[in-house]
Amino acid sequence: MEIEKNISLAKFTTLQVGGVADFFARAKSENDLKAALEFAGKNFLPIFIFGGGSNLLFSDAGFRGLVIRNEIGGVEFKKNLVRAGSGVPLAVIVAECARRGLKNLENFAGIPGTVGGAVIGNANGIGDKILRIRVLNADGETVTLSREDLEFNYRQSSLQDAKSFLVEAEFTLEKTEEDLQQKVAELAREKFAKHPFAKTAGSWFKNPEGKQAWKLIAAAGCRDLQIGGARVSDRHANFFENADGAAASDFLALEKVVAEKVFAQSGIRLEREVVVVD
Ligand SMILES: Cc1cc2nc3c(=O)[nH]c(=O)nc-3n(C[C@H](O)[C@H](O)[C@H](O)COP(=O)(O)OP(=O)(O)OC[C@H]3O[C@@H](n4cnc5c(N)ncnc54)[C@H](O)[C@@H]3O)c2cc1C
Repeated sequence: MEIEKNISLAKFTTLQVGGVADFFARAKSENDLKAALEFAGKNFLPIFIFGGGSNLLFSDAGFRGLVIRNEIGGVEFKKNLVRAGSGVPLAVIVAECARRGLKNLENFAGIPGTVGGAVIGNANGIGDKILRIRVLNADGETVTLSREDLEFNYRQSSLQDAKSFLVEAEFTLEKTEEDLQQKVAELAREKFAKHPFAKTAGSWFKNPEGKQAWKLIAAAGCRDLQIGGARVSDRHANFFENADGAAASDFLALEKVVAEKVFAQSGIRLEREVVVVD
């Protein structure tokens, strides 16, 4: 596995924003990941791992350490379960399960990114579908954890606190006669119809309990608000777009203004969902 130097991070994220990483590696296997962690350890470098970059804002200053792009592949079906490498696009296993008439992951149609990113951030509650996972912990040891060892909440998992590197995940499945391919296609179509045709990172803020962030943002008069190249989407007010060569600082400035306006209007403090790396 090659360790590259001075790599621009912008092209690896859906927002297409961010500075340069001092060191950069693509982990295509668990061994690559171990080697990358070892390199970082020997050189006393901070580490950041990511997958599809669809929920990420890298800062304009980039990253003074080792950034690892997780590309661990492999999908294996066994009776009523599927085991997937954490770098596999979520859409790939959703489509493959549907093709085989295996139910359980169809509701995740239309979510970009990798299996790893989805599990770590509990995208749409995917944590509940897990049978077990394999992680590398901060000491470089491989550990297998079952669902009961893990805690998932709205857009959160205990893996974030443990700073674990997800290697693979297994999900239970159930054979069905339902036309899952049609369901997956419909769900994806519905989702894409609501999303802006732009460079975004999905929902910027988490939904506060019992509320929808996009409604609060729209009610606070923030639709179409733009700072530098970063703009609140007119199709979905909780999506921020890179409308015109935005810098990461434009997004953070926009976030501040939107959060302040929402607080002034509703008394609710929005919490960021997107992961900011600086
Ligand atoms: C158009 C659009 C629509 C979206 N719709 C939804 C939606 O409906 N529901 C939803 O929940 N999200 C949605 N998102 C957000 C995003 O797609 C999800 O959060 C996705 O699961 C992130 O996966 P990723 O691989 O891109 O993660 P990344 O953005 O690469 O990383 C996200 C976080 O996960 C961590 N991470 C990633 N891989 C690993 C790993 N192997 N080990 C340890 N940590 C890891 C990173 O360090 C980072 O903290 C949307 C985004 C876009 C752009």
